[in-house]
Amino acid sequence: MKIIPIVPVPIEEVDMALFEEHRKIYPRSQKGWFSSWRWALVFFTQILFYGTAWLTWNDRQAVLFDLVTRKFYIFGLILWPQDFIYLAVLLVISALSLFLFTAIAGRLFCGYACPQTVYTEIFMWIEKKIEGERNARIKLDDSPMSFHKFSLKFTKHAIWLALALWTGFTFVGYFTPIRTLAEEVLSFTLGPWEVFWLLFYGFATYGNAGFMREQVCKYMCPYARFQSAMFDKDTLIVTYDSERGDPRGSRNKKVDFKALGLGSCVDCDICVQVCPTGIDIRNGLQYECIACGACIDGCDQVMDKMGYERGLIRYTTEHALVRKLDNKSMWRRVFRLRTLIYGAILSLIILAAALSLAYHVPLKVDVIRDRGMPKITESGSIENVYRLQIMNTQELAHTYQISVKGIAGAMIVNQTDVDVKSASAITFPVRVRVPTGAAEVGSNRIRFVIRDLSDPKISVTEKAVFLVPK
Ligand code: SF4
Ligand code: SF4
Repeated sequence: MKIIPIVPVPIEEVDMALFEEHRKIYPRSQKGWFSSWRWALVFFTQILFYGTAWLTWNDRQAVLFDLVTRKFYIFGLILWPQDFIYLAVLLVISALSLFLFTAIAGRLFCGYACPQTVYTEIFMWIEKKIEGERNARIKLDDSPMSFHKFSLKFTKHAIWLALALWTGFTFVGYFTPIRTLAEEVLSFTLGPWEVFWLLFYGFATYGNAGFMREQVCKYMCPYARFQSAMFDKDTLIVTYDSERGDPRGSRNKKVDFKALGLGSCVDCDICVQVCPTGIDIRNGLQYECIACGACIDGCDQVMDKMGYERGLIRYTTEHALVRKLDNKSMWRRVFRLRTLIYGAILSLIILAAALSLAYHVPLKVDVIRDRGMPKITESGSIENVYRLQIMNTQELAHTYQISVKGIAGAMIVNQTDVDVKSASAITFPVRVRVPTGAAEVGSNRIRFVIRDLSDPKISVTEKAVFLVPK
């Protein structure tokens, strides 16, 4: 057998960075149809967030998640821990909405309504007002420290911090009544948890919207990673039409660019300069793209100036581009079976949740049988003791009548009428007696009926077990 000698191969050493060095992005501000939509959503979400906390309903905060008393107040609705199902339904609705909107138009939520986008937009607007447009900001950052530079940076950070702390304060104000919180802030009597959450949420806003910005979308957001699983070739995405745009090149507006062998792209770089994540959409769909449409607005304005047709960068689908579909055929495919099924399931769940809330009885009852053995009274009756918890979930005092059914002659021997204050609960013992021979030895089913004396529609029946000893 021939032995082949092993000859060592020299290994070439290559230096390779395992992380991408951060490059600060200076997005150029942009006006246009998509920018207007983004700002409309900034106003809508922020008026909702900062304003709702101050609304009053029935002499209390309209929306309050009171963790101490474990009650969630949402205008006229009060949710108790027993209503956890509604929270689960809300999560299911959110997840299905995300599936539906992603299948229709990709990262629509990211580009318009995600808090990261919204706060980054506001922080960038403040930055632009103080430090100037893109070129002025780049120049300022490159210049050595001076009194002018320091005062601009100081003003910007002071306003950012004030806004971030106000955001943290508002957030905590949904868990602690906001007017009480304001008094505690002004009198320096905040509790340690309130201080922690106010600063935590405030500094998270300051850090994410002021410094991290697109890095949150690129490296931290899990949605960016799994969104591709929800895309298909009929999902609307922001796309550069390379067939129309290439070959790219600058040219004079008056020349016939086709005669020069050029496409519609004048290679002005505006689409890259306006991009908040700093990508070049002309390189194809990238996971960093948050579908904000800023590049569409930017490019459309360039097309207008050049006298070319708009839409070199546009929302379209892969199928529409490859198969050259007209708008009608494209939209027909966007609303395909998959999105219709998502939409139908979502509508059914929302309808069921709305009906359930509309017919929600503002009374909850828990019955627990006392662990002690049944008692035989002097008259020979058998007595079981129960603990009843009655929760009045309405902001109105009620008087309830308790009765027991299921065994002939069964009766409650102590209190049968109870008063429960508005939005509160009481727990008390209930003694039920049954005549000898009316029930079989062992366990027997009984039902407690709790009925509001002023409104017969408010009534709850709760099952329990009545034990008869041998
Ligand atoms: S904005 Fe439009 S024309 Fe300008 S580089 Fe981008 S794609 Fe080309
Ligand atoms: S590529 Fe266009 S749509 Fe995507 S993030 Fe950048 S500007 Fe927004």
